[in-house]
Amino acid sequence: MLQRATFLGLAAGTAPLLNGCTNSVPACADPTLQSAGEAQMRRTLAYVERASNSSEQCGGCAFFRGGAGECGHCEILNGAVSRLGYCNSWAGRG
Ligand code: SF4
Repeated sequence: MLQRATFLGLAAGTAPLLNGCTNSVPACADPTLQSAGEAQMRRTLAYVERASNSSEQCGGCAFFRGGAGECGHCEILNGAVSRLGYCNSWAGRG
């Protein structure tokens, strides 16, 4: 039988491997730190961490500000968003 301490040790050892999964989407904004207004705005604009259409992602949106990292800042949501995210206010850079 697997002892609790052994299980916890194995679980801790696998965490770095799980973090390296290529399909993971970065959690750029901690929902527990958002105000009710911020959370409501994200729901209203149907923000998602991963866009279903790769040609309309936050990283290509006129309202996205960020460097080369996975996360950036959205001027509409006034908070952190994923470069791979999307919301209904997406606007291409003209
Ligand atoms: S407006 Fe929407 S699509 Fe554009 S950066 Fe903000 S969250 Fe992403």
